[in-house]
Amino acid sequence: MKRELKVQPIKDGTVIDHITAGQALNVLKILEIKPGTKEVVSVVMNVRSGKMGKKDIVKVENRELKPEEVDKIALIAPNATINIIRDYEVVEKHKVFLPTEIEGVIRCANPSCISNTNEPVRSKFQVVESGAGGEGEEVRSRLRFRCAYCERMMDLDDVMEQL
Ligand SMILES: [Zn+2]
Repeated sequence: MKRELKVQPIKDGTVIDHITAGQALNVLKILEIKPGTKEVVSVVMNVRSGKMGKKDIVKVENRELKPEEVDKIALIAPNATINIIRDYEVVEKHKVFLPTEIEGVIRCANPSCISNTNEPVRSKFQVVESGAGGEGEEVRSRLRFRCAYCERMMDLDDVMEQL
């Protein structure tokens, strides 16, 4: 008999699929799943995927993601899909969305930026992609973020340091 390795279905929770290969641990970081967590989490890395070559998958039981968590995941895994599972059924499935402007998600690296002072100003960045087309890792390496207040440019590595 051929042995097949299948990921167990979950009863309730979220399956994040089509994560850019190598980003699963960063997704866990975004979800604040740390060593010692009591959450039931499955991580699958570098599995074959027709479309992308390789992908990562993260499953979190008994948890549905907040919109701001989904927005952060979009930054590092622009092709990810979010599947909400209730009672073993996929009740909602959507692709993450990389907006052209992100508010309140990341901090400006410029310490004297108005968004870093005590002023009641939420951070705001324009998402800049240099070049067109491509997906996955390619997009990731091209993403830049320009502060709407001081025009400081940040790249994805700067953002990852904050997560
Ligand atoms: Zn700024």
